[in-house]
Amino acid sequence: MRRPLVAGNWKMHGSGAANAALLAEFELRLHSEWPVDIAVFPPFVYLADVARRLRDAAIDVGAQDVCAEPGGAFTGEIAAAMLKDVGCALVIVGHSERRRWNHEDDALVARKFAAASAAGLTPVLCIGETLEEREAGKTEAVVARQLDAVLAMNGVAPFARAVIAYEPVWAIGTGRNASPEQAQAVHAFVRRRIAQQNANIAGQARILYGGSVKAANAGELFAMPDVDGGLVGGASLVADEFYEICAAAAARHERV
Ligand code: PEP
Repeated sequence: MRRPLVAGNWKMHGSGAANAALLAEFELRLHSEWPVDIAVFPPFVYLADVARRLRDAAIDVGAQDVCAEPGGAFTGEIAAAMLKDVGCALVIVGHSERRRWNHEDDALVARKFAAASAAGLTPVLCIGETLEEREAGKTEAVVARQLDAVLAMNGVAPFARAVIAYEPVWAIGTGRNASPEQAQAVHAFVRRRIAQQNANIAGQARILYGGSVKAANAGELFAMPDVDGGLVGGASLVADEFYEICAAAAARHERV
């Protein structure tokens, strides 16, 4: 049985004071016995502080990006081992905003995935098509290409632990989520693609849906058999919303 994961991507939001207030409000309501993994992904400069605050909480901390290199003369970059050192357990690689604004291609994302795995971090690999690609009937070809680049460099074994986040670009930050059926179709396709290499690992791999997840739609999205939780942007910055999304994931697990 796959344990659901709800991951809150804070993007470039927050401040020391705002983060402390958000976590305090969220933690107050959280049920530590819930059968769901929860993680937050603050901006780099707040990672150590958030990790310290959450040391005794049932909430993991992750980074939003990582350098593909293990260390050295790469000004402004952050190595996977450094993330581990300050208390991170996970790291997002290949978020569509980085693919778009930082021109990250599939090969670089595959190298970042490798760097994260080598340091003992759980990579959260983001894949997903643009609206133009969906309308051109290219959704499966795009997510297959993004996934295959990582599989080719890393093999299938890391997916027993690594997380995949299917995030249609047209649904991120737009308020327009994929329908549960649209999400399920792509998640099932991704799982079948991994199963072509190893059926056992495909059964273990957690595939999250991301793109305008909120309290109002989390339940129906998480009810889909191949949707193992969510990668949540905007709604993760509102304690009540994030709490309700985690509750929806916990309820899904109880039904499985
Ligand atoms: C994201 O940042 O990965 C995301 C899915 O954002 P939002 O939930 O705001 O669409």
